[in-house]
Amino acid sequence: MAKWIATPKRTKEILGAHGFSFKKSLGQNFIIDVNILNNIIQKAGIDKQSGVIEVGPGIGALTEQLAFYTDKVIAYEIDQRLLPILQDALAPYDNIQIIHQDILEADLSAMVQNQFKSDQPIHVIANLPYYITTPILMKLLREHLPVTRFTVMIQKEVAERMAAKPNNKKYGSLSIAVQYYTRAEVVMNVPKSVFMPPPNVDSSVLKLTKRESPPVQVTDESFFFAIVQACFAQRRKTLRNNLIRHFKASLGSETTADGLKQAGIDGTRRGESLNMKEFAVLANTFHTIIE
Ligand code: SAM
Repeated sequence: MAKWIATPKRTKEILGAHGFSFKKSLGQNFIIDVNILNNIIQKAGIDKQSGVIEVGPGIGALTEQLAFYTDKVIAYEIDQRLLPILQDALAPYDNIQIIHQDILEADLSAMVQNQFKSDQPIHVIANLPYYITTPILMKLLREHLPVTRFTVMIQKEVAERMAAKPNNKKYGSLSIAVQYYTRAEVVMNVPKSVFMPPPNVDSSVLKLTKRESPPVQVTDESFFFAIVQACFAQRRKTLRNNLIRHFKASLGSETTADGLKQAGIDGTRRGESLNMKEFAVLANTFHTIIE
């Protein structure tokens, strides 16, 4: 392919030809470096059999590479102004479908069923709009889609929080939420210079490999996540204080302290020292007490 979209020259040409101006509010920072895209694709581990869901194709820089290396790409773009641009720029490819929709509103299960073969490995690969990184990833994870792996460029700080392990100051309820569904790994840091315009924050590529089943057994998932959140509500406070606050109306402080004892977890510890297994024990114990 002679002229990839992801070069400064071609990007400027495309934007100029269509009189396009960036909307900061939509997180529009387009990639202008093919090597970065190829690194992302290599980390994702896709091949010609793969189906890909992309969020936010922009002018098609990543979409084009994905179309080149995989079987099929379905890309969701919210900005109507980009549709004619994408149609033009991606005209050489017949294995891309652009869906003009807010990804947060999309019925992804139905789309997957209609668009991909039943035995096809499906990946999510995207340079996400940073202003809604967490809602997008949590929607994709919670919907239990048949996706093998997520390889996404996101804000470095958020990537580190999602992949953080216990006893790290970045470890929190977001780490648990993501790692309950996936094995999370930051695989690459990306310089601001590969974007047009450069974003204000640093970026990383996060690889999330879907788990076959959660690493812990919990009686009630939403109760488990609520307990995890409560334990991190005030990071500097002990588990005991955070849980007493959480169960103020329902259990009172004595029963809450007893619950911690029953779970075999020292209430003077802080949330950031608990691993997922310990959170599961804690949640399951309190679930029994509450019922
Ligand atoms: N993939 C392109 C690239 O790497 O050059 C563009 C990435 S840019 C960081 C994010 C893209 O997501 C923009 O095209 C933006 O319009 C789109 N976007 C923002 N919010 C969206 C949403 N809720 N649903 C779908 N697309 C969205």
